[in-house]
Amino acid sequence: MSTSAHSPAESVTSTAAAVREGGQVTDRLVALNSEYAKDFRDPGMDARPVLQVAVVACMDARLDLHAALGLELGDCHTIRNAGGVVTEDVIRSLTISQRALGTRSVVLIHHTNCGLESLTEDFRQDLEREVGQRPAWAVEAYKDADQDVRQSMQRVRTSPFLLHTDDVRGFVFDVTTGLLREIDSVS
Ligand SMILES: [Zn+2]
Repeated sequence: MSTSAHSPAESVTSTAAAVREGGQVTDRLVALNSEYAKDFRDPGMDARPVLQVAVVACMDARLDLHAALGLELGDCHTIRNAGGVVTEDVIRSLTISQRALGTRSVVLIHHTNCGLESLTEDFRQDLEREVGQRPAWAVEAYKDADQDVRQSMQRVRTSPFLLHTDDVRGFVFDVTTGLLREIDSVS
């Protein structure tokens, strides 16, 4: 089977180069999608995740969830946001994941060196000063990733909307070693 003309590393490099040259990164991504689709075959999968697991993680660019967890296409739901924190919208996605699409386990992943560690709730005040209104959402900044993972696990376990809260585990991913470190529910 033929593959894309670019290796992943080359694709990343050429995309970065395109940005530096003032090109539109989205155009580059769309072009790479055309290459991807050439070899794509309908996997014929059900929308229900094979491993019946939902992973909630930070959006951080250094965290390749599928590679880090040995996941394959169709295995899981991935729900990502800044920090991997359990917000109302994450609960919305988890509720749909469990009630409509059959997942039973929840994995929460924060990571070292997260951008949220350098922010405070002042971010909202600064926004208000700049644009004239304060956002309705919390920044969810934190200083202690372990503690924030515990809080996130607690938010999942106490949600009245979820069907399955018996298998909820939390981790911190080390962006320098690639290793997960599990966080106990109670410190
Ligand atoms: Zn992060």
